[in-house]
Amino acid sequence: MTLLRADLHCHSSCSDGSLTPSELLQNAVDSGLQGLSITDHDTVDAYETAFDGAKALGLTLISGVEFSTALRGQSIHILGYAFDPDNPALRYLCERHTHRREDRLQKILERLCQEGFSLNEEDVRAHSEGSSIGRPHIAAAMMEKGYVHSIKEAFQNYLAEGKPCYVPGALFSPEETIDVIHGAQGKAVIAHPHLIKSRPTVNRLLQLDFDGIECYYARFPPDQERPWLKLAEKRALLVTGGSDFHGSAKPHLPLGCSWAPEDTFLRLMEHFHKVCPQ
Ligand code: AMP
Ligand code: ZN
Ligand code: FE
Ligand code: FE
Repeated sequence: MTLLRADLHCHSSCSDGSLTPSELLQNAVDSGLQGLSITDHDTVDAYETAFDGAKALGLTLISGVEFSTALRGQSIHILGYAFDPDNPALRYLCERHTHRREDRLQKILERLCQEGFSLNEEDVRAHSEGSSIGRPHIAAAMMEKGYVHSIKEAFQNYLAEGKPCYVPGALFSPEETIDVIHGAQGKAVIAHPHLIKSRPTVNRLLQLDFDGIECYYARFPPDQERPWLKLAEKRALLVTGGSDFHGSAKPHLPLGCSWAPEDTFLRLMEHFHKVCPQ
């Protein structure tokens, strides 16, 4: 029997990916995947159309989202899976994030103005199709204006954490985010723990009510996956995985370059079908 492969981490044009949800679904099929979860930043808008599209392609789609949170002043991403995408509290959290992102955009534009760049809201909106406007859209606008040579340069010099134009915006705690995911009957997963530099922050996160850890992420080598796999096993947490595909924005990460173990995929699929009978 062939192995069932599901990429449980990717972004569509509803946040900062370059492919529309339907293009993303087609890419998943073309990549030989049997399952997918679209995990846009702070929005579930992709699911307005994606379930019908997946059904037509014979692809198993599990609801997903990547929420932005902050802990001890550090940015922490939390993945939610197999929740009811129509849950009002979850929708409301997404709406609050839309406001945070709108407000943050103004603040970042002010900072960029102080750095001598002339960039307005419309310049940035021209690069964003969805409700989740983010730093990659600002970076794309800076590049178009010729202020930087690449998205990477925009982050490295201005937009990344600790750089002069970085603004986190309103902060949401991991605790309340996990509660909202659970309230929508979903599973809450620590995203890309490999990227968290501070051990005390990891220890604090492990005290929270997470259901899983994203042990397989992007193109991290096996020796950097191993400690997270051990931890997940020790604590009986779900082991998830995905590429963090963004399309042309991150061409080095193709869809399906990481995926979830088959048993995780099957468990999440079963859970999701209970939450949202198809
Ligand atoms: P935001 O959600 O607006 O805070 O933006 C976060 C997104 O920006 C991440 O998910 C990445 O897609 C992108 N990003 C973060 N850091 C970098 C970087 N150094 N270079 C390029 N893209 C980045
Ligand atoms: Zn992103
Ligand atoms: Fe992330
Ligand atoms: Fe991501």
